[in-house]
Amino acid sequence: MTTALQNNEPQAIATNDDWFEVLKITDYLFAVSEPRHYEHTVIYLLLGGDRAILIDTGCGIGNLRRVVEQLTSLPITVVNTHTHLDHLGSNHQFSEIIMFDHPRSRCLSENGTSQELLHWELQREELVTLPWPDDFRIEESVLPPFKVSRWIKHDDVLEIGDIRLRVLHTPGEAPDHVCLLDQTHGILFCGDILLNGAVWCHLDGGDVGELHASYELLMRHFDAFDILMPSHNAPCQNKDLLPIALAASGDVLSGKAQSQAGTDLWGRDYNKYDFRRISILSRFSP
Ligand SMILES: [Zn+2]
Repeated sequence: MTTALQNNEPQAIATNDDWFEVLKITDYLFAVSEPRHYEHTVIYLLLGGDRAILIDTGCGIGNLRRVVEQLTSLPITVVNTHTHLDHLGSNHQFSEIIMFDHPRSRCLSENGTSQELLHWELQREELVTLPWPDDFRIEESVLPPFKVSRWIKHDDVLEIGDIRLRVLHTPGEAPDHVCLLDQTHGILFCGDILLNGAVWCHLDGGDVGELHASYELLMRHFDAFDILMPSHNAPCQNKDLLPIALAASGDVLSGKAQSQAGTDLWGRDYNKYDFRRISILSRFSP
């Protein structure tokens, strides 16, 4: 089944939504992405018999629930990979939410976030290819508190529908970041730490040393998955990206890698290390 997945060409699915792009990766897996947002967040919908799992809920700009209901009528359980706002923007649209137990997740679920912060992080016009979705009103947009039905810890195994997801705590980009190992299908949902693009360790709570340790942890599970599903940019990455990323973070830590200074769209400085298929951003040091 998984070999078929690797060779499979994802198929575009038409919906009546003008914000999300939906790819059917295989019978039980859809990638729902936000290509008109700078973050190009990817949300995964995994069908598991009598229940579906939604991995992350995106930027909260399009109506995620409406698009998901076009893809499945199964009840939905949300599992978040971490607390960066581009991954839980539509959590409040769902009633069954599972999160990694961490002070940041507890704080966000209890308080939501201010409209100012939401606007600054995700809703500035320079972050978006306009127009906004039809029914989106920026002045009404909020990230309200949401109820978490289950708090999880490292190495928990979630049984949702007929899918077994193993929780792997993998800090480095965010202190509360988890990867989700789908033991049923041999897929690693790898969040923001393995992707076709840059891994952002220059934000508050980011740390290249922790990222390296997370890659080492994932290498111990290397035989348990066949493919990576990242939370940004293109879905379906070859798992060989993991040893490449491990060597890359090692070279950053040892001082062997060369970097270039830069500043992101939010004015945060970084050092950028470019490698084959992946880049790492670390906090700026001259
Ligand atoms: Zn992200």
